[in-house]
Amino acid sequence: MTTKLAMNGGEPTIRTPLRPYRSIGLEEKEAVAEVMETGRLSEFVGAPGSNFLGGPKVRQFEAACEVFFETKHAIAVNSWTSGLIAAVGAVGVRPGDEVIVPPWTMTASAAAVLHWNAIPVFADIRKDTFCLDPESVEAAISEKTRAIIAVDIFGQSADIAALMELAESHDLVVISDTAQAPAARVNGRFAGTSAHIGGISLNYHKHINTGEGGVLFTDDDQLAHRMRLIRNHGEAVVNPDSIKDLVNIIGHNFRLGELEAAIGIEQLKKLPGVVERRERIGNRLLEGLAGLSGLKLPIVAKGNTHVYYIFGMTLEGIALEIGREQIVRALRAEGVPGLGEGYANIHLLPIYQQKIAYGDKGFPWTETGSEVSYAKGICPVAEELHSESFLGFLMCLFELNDEEVDAVILAFRKVWENLVQVEDSVS
Ligand SMILES: *Cc1c(COP(=O)(O)O)cnc(C)c1O
Repeated sequence: MTTKLAMNGGEPTIRTPLRPYRSIGLEEKEAVAEVMETGRLSEFVGAPGSNFLGGPKVRQFEAACEVFFETKHAIAVNSWTSGLIAAVGAVGVRPGDEVIVPPWTMTASAAAVLHWNAIPVFADIRKDTFCLDPESVEAAISEKTRAIIAVDIFGQSADIAALMELAESHDLVVISDTAQAPAARVNGRFAGTSAHIGGISLNYHKHINTGEGGVLFTDDDQLAHRMRLIRNHGEAVVNPDSIKDLVNIIGHNFRLGELEAAIGIEQLKKLPGVVERRERIGNRLLEGLAGLSGLKLPIVAKGNTHVYYIFGMTLEGIALEIGREQIVRALRAEGVPGLGEGYANIHLLPIYQQKIAYGDKGFPWTETGSEVSYAKGICPVAEELHSESFLGFLMCLFELNDEEVDAVILAFRKVWENLVQVEDSVS
């Protein structure tokens, strides 16, 4: 039996748009109303004293995160970008130091390094998990390397055990960027809590959100203290005797408001349910899409759970011969939304290609004598995946009940059963 693909004038598989993901409800509305009643929307003070650590909702949210994520310190910030900047600063990264980052992440993971006038060095990712490849990281380590930012991309942890081992043998610090994998497990712990510092984003695309926001994790008292100083005008707070190490204690205002913290408290309660649903949807897709030739489905690395921010696939063999563009065109015509062709390689952005971050004279690269290369070709795996074979389904955008997931599966199966038609449309 042949069915006409929608791209060739046939009936599309999905006729009603998938519902957008939403985790905000009545609970958040009530929590916000309660704070509004008090009239105090933030209680942070950038000076010594008890309000240096923020208002009651911020502290309650942090305490809840400490219990939930099993981390000694949780520090709320106004975005995860702020969190990353605070983390890199707290580690004591100095101008010209190198920090290893993957090319597959949101730009902030690398920009957080530049904000301290330090140098991002890109190591390649693994073709199966899309997370940092420890071998490539090892090859990128130099005398100047100070830290590694391990990104738990798409919903599962990077190989944190291998990266921590590397860090130990080279005296480096590991920062986990778990923005896309909150409450994913790795070797019995929550992703982000095995590194020296980790944390999650609370931006509205993420599993749980406060609109904007983020939370830092660490078990290290000193790092926690330093991050709290960077969060809240540190230089105004330290007296000469209270801290030995003043490096990078130039404070920012990374403070989270009481409204967001109140929302965060309610969102955190929903996280286990959100993650359970994402895993169920991911597993349903894995089952439903199994056996389509040339379509490689996500793998869940040993010791990991996957909380599916993005369902990351690759095309191989026949599928790749037809071309990703055509296959995506066919899937979109069938009504499948949220498809990502590739994932941008950060090192190929103009800021790195032209080495222009601060001013127009190549600072911080020229000034610190850095000769790091951002040439096309330094991350061959990530580059090939982006330009040729990677196909992501952005699960984070949709609610996805079983029927909707099945409709997506049906659309894929229809396209795959009629690849001849896709092929014909190319020639
Ligand atoms: C979303 C995201 C960030 C940035 O988080 P914000 O809270 O939006 O600043 C950083 N890294 C990764 C991998 C992300 O997905």
